[in-house]
Amino acid sequence: MAKQSEIEKELTKLPILEYVFFKPEEIIFSKEVRDLCQGNSCGMYNSTWACPPAVGSVESCIEKCQAYDKAMLFTTATEVANSFDMKGWLRARVEHEALTDQVAAVFRSYDENALILSTEGCTVCKKCTYPDAPCRFPDRMYPATEGYGIMVMQMAPALNISYNNGANTVTYFSMVLFNE
Ligand code: SF4
Repeated sequence: MAKQSEIEKELTKLPILEYVFFKPEEIIFSKEVRDLCQGNSCGMYNSTWACPPAVGSVESCIEKCQAYDKAMLFTTATEVANSFDMKGWLRARVEHEALTDQVAAVFRSYDENALILSTEGCTVCKKCTYPDAPCRFPDRMYPATEGYGIMVMQMAPALNISYNNGANTVTYFSMVLFNE
């Protein structure tokens, strides 16, 4: 059984910037966020198992999240040279996803069914199997919070987490849903 205090002991060993535990009922879902996804604003729509439409309808995503007891949101912040520093943004994302793997391992050692949501689709494989064959690494395929219709921008201030950590810094978010 997952005890928050035990999990937190493990989390303090990782390079997380901020984290917060909360109830899944506090997740802010927004049709606009999912519409942006479906408008292919990041170019990943309909291209991986981690993005809509593969993740299911917003209603099914809400239902899935609300079936868990608890949630946790965490961030990393990485410095980049400027807002055009694409290599820096990519490095920040790779580092964030590597940390998300570590956080997932902590939670899944307590709850093997913990759901992990992360950033902008999945980049685990060079070429995704979608839609022709099942996902190669379902344990490392973390659906995007945006694909679930989650409004992280509004949730962060409500949970006292910084959405923006200053100029020339990129902040990434991941979320964990788990049962105690
Ligand atoms: S793990 Fe590989 S096959 Fe699965 S969604 Fe990610 S890129 Fe696609």
